[in-house]
Amino acid sequence: MKIKKVLIANRGEIALRILRSCHELGIKTVAVHSTADRDLKHVRLADESVCIGPASSLESYLNIPAIISAAEVTDADAIHPGYGFLSENADFAERVESSGFIFIGPKAETIRVMGDKISAKAAMEKSGVPCVPGSGGAIPDDPQIQFKMAEDIGYPVMVKATGGGGGRGMRVVHDKSDLLESIVLTKTEAGQAFNNDVVFMEKFLEKPRHIEFQVLADEHGNAIHLCERDCSMQRRNQKVVEEAPAPGITEEQRKKIGDSVAQACVDIGYRGAGTFEFLYENNEFYFIEMNTRLQVEHPVTELITGVDLVKQQLLIASGEKLTLKSNMRPRGHAIECRINAEDPETFIPSPGKVERFHMPGGLGVRVDSHIYGGYTVPPFYDSMIGKLIVHAEDRDTAIRRMRVALSEMVIEGIKTNIPLQKRIMDDTAFVAGGAGIDYLEKKLGL
Ligand code: ADP
Repeated sequence: MKIKKVLIANRGEIALRILRSCHELGIKTVAVHSTADRDLKHVRLADESVCIGPASSLESYLNIPAIISAAEVTDADAIHPGYGFLSENADFAERVESSGFIFIGPKAETIRVMGDKISAKAAMEKSGVPCVPGSGGAIPDDPQIQFKMAEDIGYPVMVKATGGGGGRGMRVVHDKSDLLESIVLTKTEAGQAFNNDVVFMEKFLEKPRHIEFQVLADEHGNAIHLCERDCSMQRRNQKVVEEAPAPGITEEQRKKIGDSVAQACVDIGYRGAGTFEFLYENNEFYFIEMNTRLQVEHPVTELITGVDLVKQQLLIASGEKLTLKSNMRPRGHAIECRINAEDPETFIPSPGKVERFHMPGGLGVRVDSHIYGGYTVPPFYDSMIGKLIVHAEDRDTAIRRMRVALSEMVIEGIKTNIPLQKRIMDDTAFVAGGAGIDYLEKKLGL
């Protein structure tokens, strides 16, 4: 292994997750943290730690010069960006590499192409990956052309910012009379939020499922897929529960889409771990975007494939060849519940001191969390405080195992969404499998 010391440019559960694989491989770790995060579990476990700034993410976890300096001072060889923060920032990847460090992720230019939804879709179409039917490029200013585009696609349509992210910068248009105004509004918002007001149009799918494929690709032209995940249980475009494999997907469908995304990786010169996200409706897959990083829900894939994805990222970043085989058949079923510090009814974040914490356990139960009794959840960052993941021989057993695990999990002092997760595990439509992305909000009456 070329990499001997990794700087982890993230916080919370994912920083701990990355640290674990590094230490297992004998790689040293450097934790970087804000002043609000001195007590994070991985900061204590890391070989070295550097405070990179105040609580505000802008001045710490998004502070590129501070992170690069920390890598220089500690003599790290590589930087792992985790998810969120700088993980899909092409400028950061470029700065990391031009400063002489290995970026654990794809090349900056790949992040750039896939970070722009129009160029990402164009690249996918070229590789034969099925996409949501749409305008095929930026919407021009001429209203006549705009009307014609929407009619050709067929209402309802979605106007989307090419630079959008985090579920923002998109608008559904049900009727011709709303089209022009929606385009103007989305353009204005996108210009302000993403500094890029280019928008495009695609068919709005009414009740699709969200199904995504995990990939790994090395620098030597080898790429594989590691089956799919179903992440349809969402609230405000945020995933709440994820599972693998996706209920009802046939081996034939898995092979067809899996092979097409693996080929796309080769075509775009992809490197590292990544995810191709699709909407799935009436037995058809439609590509929406690629995430060029490790994802929150990666553990469900690890459990059904037996592959340590962070270890693979480290091997690939070290320049090694992939030795894994593609088209693996999933082993059993895995489910992940995101555990958030928030009110289960109002979803208002609930930071504060964790007075008591009891972890569930037993066969096929995994907890990825950085919290501990006495830890204070700071109010400055995402409210996710961990993930509870179960693995069993089949989906029914996995659901039953998750119910038991949730009932064992005790977090006192702060509010959590554990009651909501219990409701989902008891929900008839969830238990049946295959609910759409609109389902959870409807159930919650939102
Ligand atoms: P972001 O980069 O903001 O995450 P995505 O393109 O991945 O944007 O879309 C986020 C979510 O928005 C999807 O998971 C889905 O719920 C919804 N969405 C996006 N495109 C469509 C579409 N064409 N039809 C229906 N829903 C969509």
